[in-house]
Amino acid sequence: MAAHPAAFSFDIEDWFHSEFVPGAVRRESKESVVERGTGRILDLLRATRSRATFFLLGDVVREHPALLRRIAEEGHEIASHGLDHQPLWRLDAGGLARQLEEFRRLVERVLGQFPVIGYRAPSFSLDRSTAWALDVLRDQGYAYDSSIFPARVKLYGVPDAPVGIYRPARDDLARHDPNGTLVEFPVAVGTAGPLRLPVAGGFYLRALPFSIFRLVLGRVRRRRPIALYLHPRECAPEAVRLSMGAGDSFITYTGLAGVPAKLEALLRLYRSRPMREVLAAEGQLPAR
Ligand SMILES: [Zn+2]
Repeated sequence: MAAHPAAFSFDIEDWFHSEFVPGAVRRESKESVVERGTGRILDLLRATRSRATFFLLGDVVREHPALLRRIAEEGHEIASHGLDHQPLWRLDAGGLARQLEEFRRLVERVLGQFPVIGYRAPSFSLDRSTAWALDVLRDQGYAYDSSIFPARVKLYGVPDAPVGIYRPARDDLARHDPNGTLVEFPVAVGTAGPLRLPVAGGFYLRALPFSIFRLVLGRVRRRRPIALYLHPRECAPEAVRLSMGAGDSFITYTGLAGVPAKLEALLRLYRSRPMREVLAAEGQLPAR
């Protein structure tokens, strides 16, 4: 039975970066969970001899340079999650370019010259309304993206985008263009006829029964490489709880306690490699 490779990825941001946390609460308290949560992720990766991709915020790199150093030293891929978690919906081409230049400066201040070729937009905010970002990413030296979410959910999504690796066309990012300059590696979404069920990590890993999650993810992996994502705040479940509306609170907090054990189980089930290496093995990127 053929099984495709798995790439685990982690969006390294603090709890107060989430779009679901109300602005007032965000400003009130700045207790950080990023060190504790990321430390736990790194320990789990080491224990399972796995390597992964870390999409870091520039703000986190600035505040926690030792964390960046540890991630790089342990052989993981460093990639960009932007600067301050503003979704692309609130930026323009010039603003994104400045953010990515600043991100690179911050990383190079800690690590020296360092290859960063992967990008994930905050809140999967790359959709038809922000397709201009593809040109900016190419101009800034990025080779792949993992921001187009191929299902429609509350905050984001491009429901007709391909569910496998492809090259988004400039005039319609849901269309494959064999000559496209950027590779898209979408996070895992299962399909059943016209239905799409995200099994990508984050909320879906917390809310779905784990047996269903694993079953659907296993089916996806028999067809194509899978990419998964999680956040440090999901791997440090003892973190502070904030007051917010019932719906947003459910999306933010449901099933938190079980995440570290599920992550460990998944890492033991599917050996993780960085996204860049999976794309290179698939012939989508030049091998380094
Ligand atoms: Zn994020």
